[in-house]
Amino acid sequence: MRTPSSRSRQAAALAALAMTAAALAAPTPAQGNVAGTLTDAFAPQLVTVDTPSRAAKSRLQALGLDLTEHAGHDYVEVVLHSAADRLALLAAGFTYDVRIPDLLAREGEINRLDDLFAATTLRTALPSGRDSYRSLADYNSQMRAMADANPGLVRLLTLPEKTLDGRTVLGVEIARDVTARDGRPTFAMFGVHHAREWPSGEHAMEFAVDLVKGARAGDPRISGLLERGRMVVVPVVNPDGFSLSFNDGQLVDLRETDGGGTATILGTPGNAYKRKNCRVVDGQDTPDGTCAVFSATANGGYGVGVDPNRNYGGLWGGPGASDLFADPTYRGAGPFSEPETRNVRHLISTRQVTMMISNHTFSNLVLRPNGVNPTTIGPDGLPVGDAPDEQALKDLGARMTAQNGYANIHGWELYDTTGTTEDWSYNATGGYGYTFEIGPDEFHPPFAQVVDEYVGAGQYAGKGNREAYLIAFESAVSRASHAVISGKAPAGATLRLRKEFTTPTWSPANDFTDSLETTMVTSGKTFAWDVNQSTRPVVQSRLVKLLDDEPTRSETFTGTAAPGSSVDHELVVTEADQEILQVDLDWPTPDDLDLEVYRRNADGSLTEVGGSGNFVGDKERATINAPTPGTYVLRVINFASVTPTYTLTAALFDATEQTTAPQVEAWTLTCEKDGRVLQSVPVVVERGQQVSVDLKECTRRWAR
Ligand SMILES: [Zn+2]
Repeated sequence: MRTPSSRSRQAAALAALAMTAAALAAPTPAQGNVAGTLTDAFAPQLVTVDTPSRAAKSRLQALGLDLTEHAGHDYVEVVLHSAADRLALLAAGFTYDVRIPDLLAREGEINRLDDLFAATTLRTALPSGRDSYRSLADYNSQMRAMADANPGLVRLLTLPEKTLDGRTVLGVEIARDVTARDGRPTFAMFGVHHAREWPSGEHAMEFAVDLVKGARAGDPRISGLLERGRMVVVPVVNPDGFSLSFNDGQLVDLRETDGGGTATILGTPGNAYKRKNCRVVDGQDTPDGTCAVFSATANGGYGVGVDPNRNYGGLWGGPGASDLFADPTYRGAGPFSEPETRNVRHLISTRQVTMMISNHTFSNLVLRPNGVNPTTIGPDGLPVGDAPDEQALKDLGARMTAQNGYANIHGWELYDTTGTTEDWSYNATGGYGYTFEIGPDEFHPPFAQVVDEYVGAGQYAGKGNREAYLIAFESAVSRASHAVISGKAPAGATLRLRKEFTTPTWSPANDFTDSLETTMVTSGKTFAWDVNQSTRPVVQSRLVKLLDDEPTRSETFTGTAAPGSSVDHELVVTEADQEILQVDLDWPTPDDLDLEVYRRNADGSLTEVGGSGNFVGDKERATINAPTPGTYVLRVINFASVTPTYTLTAALFDATEQTTAPQVEAWTLTCEKDGRVLQSVPVVVERGQQVSVDLKECTRRWAR
């Protein structure tokens, strides 16, 4: 439903508020009945929610609904799992269009399309030729078979921790002479952090198959990459969640076959659209299978679990991650509280991972760090700023998106996130990290689309994610993009690089000790080791803009807006080079006025440039970065305030640029024989730099 005029939108919002109030006022048993009836009748939906401003996005995020990664400047797509979700959206004054009215019916339709596709397709253009989604068993048996059939080229990896439901997480490592303990860099790729995002595992797995086929066929480009680097693929990081989503997703087929459904499956929609892992109780490993039982009664399972892509340690607990268990972006009880994220952390901490891609669905995006808007004040009291490697990350992102047609943007341009894979991996290691949001419009679309996104279709035919991944692999092995430590050492010596440091979270109380430790064994008298830079990006010098304490100029307006109406005020900005325009709205009672800020275009039309829609009781502030001179319209909207008289203050602030103090960190390099340290030296090395290390002491003592 979309109600275009803002007046009718407000009327709808007020009506919804009244409905909610009535429901809340009803005695508990009746409320239970109403909720039960609504839940039974409600099929999960995918809807496009209107979010004309960043403030609206923040307000939407705060509702705890299941937001997808599909969002634009004025909308976010959301999964509504229940009637309660829909009521929450309406009560908060949001309008939306329904895009997929019944996700379970769509699931059945996809299954039917996939059966047809498989029945009519002998072999797809995928490296494996597959014509249908893999099950967890398919992934695991295929990885075992690849390793068995390709000794010396493929090695099966068993990640250190089992999942909460007792599953082993497998991966493959692919390189020429894969078992050698040499100094080559690693490109690590992950899939299925989020249970329902099946193509994210398919593309990771297909890339592994692609590399193995290429190596066996003597493809010069692929052979060259596997000479110079190593590929590690973990296609299913969250096998507990994935198997629930996949198995329930297949089950919906039963409903399709009897012409529209049985009450049983409608009543317990299952986990086809589950997002998180199988944590049922924080801090406890409940008996295996508890998650499935619990999920069957809990809104399709989406409320159960920790969001693995908010549980990484980097900036853990900040914006865009919830502290409420039932929320889709629940960050977990602490940084790295979950076995899935600890597995990935272990893998990245024990290798020199110079490139990391974490695959997700959907929205055709390549996201780069940071996960929060650069103006956000971070845990150190300064604006978070851009990543120190912003230009290089952006350039590489552009080269990759030229292959798949995706948008090349910062994580925060979608919406704020913290505790994601690259928030930690990039900031702790310096290795580049990206999130791929694969596919235009669904979590697990008909399989034919998985093929198209991988090999490329239309103007991207022959490119696609395959070519983007190859470009990423080329960057992973390029010495211009990481660092090299070289020198002379005794043949057969174990070299160890180690660092220990504190990883900052969003609040100092949660900061924790982190360590990176990798080894190589020298094969001759000289060695060259491809490594990440010694100083972490998170403590590298960065440019931040600090606002002046006093405004350059400020203007105050007072007015009255009757309930359900809005009032416009105009502000003319003549000053150039102002850092921000800050508009504050204040009024006497703890209820709800909203604020929207527009810039008037040459033709008189208005473009929204900012706004603030806090919850009832919070006052409103809109911040517009770098306001260009011109006329601004400040719109005060009365959603539900009983005292419509307000004060509006618009202030322009200049800022002082400041470069944060650079910190320099060193690796500790040790040269060891039979576990005995013969020499230990600090090594400072920057990205793109090659340093030579003198290990004479190790050589001298080696002979004794
Ligand atoms: Zn995801």
